[in-house]
Amino acid sequence: MAPTRGYAEILEGLREPMPQTGLPADQVIRDLDEAVRGGLMAFNHGRFFGWVIGGAMPAGVAADWLVTAWDQNTGMAEIAPSLSAVEALTAEWLLELLDLPRSSSVAFVTGAQVANLVCLAAARHRVLAEAGWDVEADGLTGAPQVTVLAGEFVHHSVGRAVRILGLGESRIVTVAADDNARMRPDALREALSRVSGPAIVCVQAGEIATGGIDPLAALADIVDERRTHAPTWLHVDGAIGLFGRASHTLAPKFSGAERADSWCTDAHKWLNTPYDCGVAIVADRDAHYQAMTLHAAYLPQPGDARDPLDWNPEMSRRARATAVYATLRALGRSGVAELVERDCAMAQLLAEGIRALPGAEVANEVELNQVLVRLKDPAGLDDDAHTRATLARLQTSGVAFPSGTTFRGRAAIRFSVVDWATDTDDIAETLEALAEAHTRWG
Ligand SMILES: *Cc1c(COP(=O)(O)O)cnc(C)c1O
Repeated sequence: MAPTRGYAEILEGLREPMPQTGLPADQVIRDLDEAVRGGLMAFNHGRFFGWVIGGAMPAGVAADWLVTAWDQNTGMAEIAPSLSAVEALTAEWLLELLDLPRSSSVAFVTGAQVANLVCLAAARHRVLAEAGWDVEADGLTGAPQVTVLAGEFVHHSVGRAVRILGLGESRIVTVAADDNARMRPDALREALSRVSGPAIVCVQAGEIATGGIDPLAALADIVDERRTHAPTWLHVDGAIGLFGRASHTLAPKFSGAERADSWCTDAHKWLNTPYDCGVAIVADRDAHYQAMTLHAAYLPQPGDARDPLDWNPEMSRRARATAVYATLRALGRSGVAELVERDCAMAQLLAEGIRALPGAEVANEVELNQVLVRLKDPAGLDDDAHTRATLARLQTSGVAFPSGTTFRGRAAIRFSVVDWATDTDDIAETLEALAEAHTRWG
């Protein structure tokens, strides 16, 4: 499951001068397939729990192959009418599935990093427009100060988006979180009371380590209060968790999310589509459009159809929504709900098994599909070192692949249950391998 050969060795194996003459395509492909062996990870596996990666379901994979074979440039509807139509319908389906305002605009981008960027560009447009400033035309020099507020455990991609947008990553006002990495409403209220002028509040649905879901309804109340007297935008980073809203059982955990101004999520994580596919959703279509639109004399002029280039920071682009369309059609709402519910149930089962293991501790409240594990050093010396060593043994066991982190200053093993194939047998085998790695020390 883990690579058996490293980057340097693989690069060495590949290395040759830029070829002066070509080779037959079938030979190129055969050689390539051989050269990368041992350096690929089994992402598409029921016992792969690393980072938040997830597999890819057959319908989406096949649709993605078609996208490659068709070789369509889906920047504009007039240039690629079929796949622009597929994208427009997929956007409608997602709003229905995630139960977000149906009039929202949607962009299919490379991942949640870019989705955060698009959402925050729309946010920057709106809060500055309300303050009487046209940021697209006039830039930030001389503009009213925009304050970005984010939780203590905000994902680093939000920081990078803020940096690219010229709002200054180190100017982000950090709002304290609770034990499960959820933003504290009292802390947001307090932080906002000290901010005047335009503000953008970034919350999250699914924290990277704990899976913690911010108390969205309480946070939305605070933002709504502030909206009455100052330009304020609420953004939800739902890269990990937002698809939980497809399940009637899980949806209450995300209640209040629908009151935000923008949301980002990843189809390539929990929806199990192939890479690359993030989704940016913006309630204020005009803000989204103003922040992203582009037109030129040499391109078809805007018509009635939805042109993807009005919503993305891209011109030429692959038809990445097609795999989302195929996956949604193959699963249906019930299939998506079943997928997310099963993964959450498997995370609970894993946590139960870990709690029953002597010397093992579940270090988070398992709200969603992430499980953090700490292990006691049987020699009584160094729990951090023992936890890291157990992780390394587990990763090379070939049975299961979690990844690691440091949470609140302590080492932890991190299981992210996002694969469509994970079942009870996978959890049983994973627990066995964990117990073995934990007891086989020294
Ligand atoms: C993965 C992730 C991102 C970034 O998503 P990419 O698809 O890797 O660009 C952003 N926010 C959160 C919470 C994530 O888990």
